[in-house]
Amino acid sequence: MLLFTPGPTPVPESVRNAMAGVTIHHRTPEFEAIFERTRMLLFKLFKTDEVVMLSSSGTGAMEAAVTNLTHKKLLSINAGKFGERFGKIAVAHGIANVEIKHEWDTPATVEEVETQLRADADIDAIAIQISESAGGLRHPVEAIAKAAKAIRPEIMIIADGITAVGVEPIDASHIDCLIAGSQKALMLPPGLAILGLSNAAIEKIGSGKGYYLNLASEIKQQRKNTTAYTAATTLIIGLEAILNEIDVNGLEALYSETERRARATREALKAIGLHVYPKTPALSMTTIDDEQASEIRSLLKTEYGVNVAGGQDHLKGKIFRINQMGLIPTYESAWVVNAVELALDKLGRRKYDGVANQTFNTTFFGL
Ligand SMILES: *Cc1c(COP(=O)(O)O)cnc(C)c1O
Repeated sequence: MLLFTPGPTPVPESVRNAMAGVTIHHRTPEFEAIFERTRMLLFKLFKTDEVVMLSSSGTGAMEAAVTNLTHKKLLSINAGKFGERFGKIAVAHGIANVEIKHEWDTPATVEEVETQLRADADIDAIAIQISESAGGLRHPVEAIAKAAKAIRPEIMIIADGITAVGVEPIDASHIDCLIAGSQKALMLPPGLAILGLSNAAIEKIGSGKGYYLNLASEIKQQRKNTTAYTAATTLIIGLEAILNEIDVNGLEALYSETERRARATREALKAIGLHVYPKTPALSMTTIDDEQASEIRSLLKTEYGVNVAGGQDHLKGKIFRINQMGLIPTYESAWVVNAVELALDKLGRRKYDGVANQTFNTTFFGL
């Protein structure tokens, strides 16, 4: 079965092997050396002033970012499940929160964020997804961050890049906290979250907030190549392995291949009459809205060996989402669009003629 859900993504065999070694203790020079090398590779990926690894799923990093970087009021952008989560985290901690809410196919705009900031002097942090995975939407985060800093230079920009870091180059020059998670573009098992931080963010964190998710304690320890609590040693060993594997061809090659794959998949599915759901699609996944989304998903799984994700909440049964993140063999993606075309034939929607596969190949290979 091909795992084509936008998280978890498949773990490459070389990475699984790297994680299969004997358990080592985390307070040893051996592990500290692994930690240091991994940190250096993360700096290359994030291009931020500091990086911090946490033993938690992605949400742990979202919570750490909100609690450590919001001192007055959070502005959260909610155009999906994950944007909604930022607001819920603030509420759970008694942090004041205002929300800009959109349908899941509609990105936030620079203007509405500017208006909100001008009207509310208490907002000291903005939380937004780069790629909102609920609908496969790309928000214009870089432009929003730049505009927000022009109005309020000390504002903190928290960018959830869980389905964006490792997918496309991100200009972090106006971002204070950039978040990644292990089980998406980084092709690892779930359980590790990473934050890239600006110097301004470190200053604002000060002595930190909370206990386990206190970023000040982690920054202090991780600069010494250790962690405040037991490190997720196996996952960090896996992280070094995958970052080294990506390094073989370089990040630029990964980004450009992901972009070509996303474009080829989108064009292929449009060519067989399907509709791309988000108005501004992210490169991390291709989201199709369709009345028969459930039937298509189920045929993909039972007849053609492909596992894609559905939708949540009001989009349950209304969309399906195909992963584009990670080191994906081209022949797998070509099979996935072909399988969707076969499913449409089986549903009596459209006679099979191989157009999806052909469009994928001509687009991907530039024929
Ligand atoms: C997966 C995901 C998360 C975090 O989810 P966890 O289940 O806690 O790892 C957060 N934001 C986005 C955009 C995601 O895709």
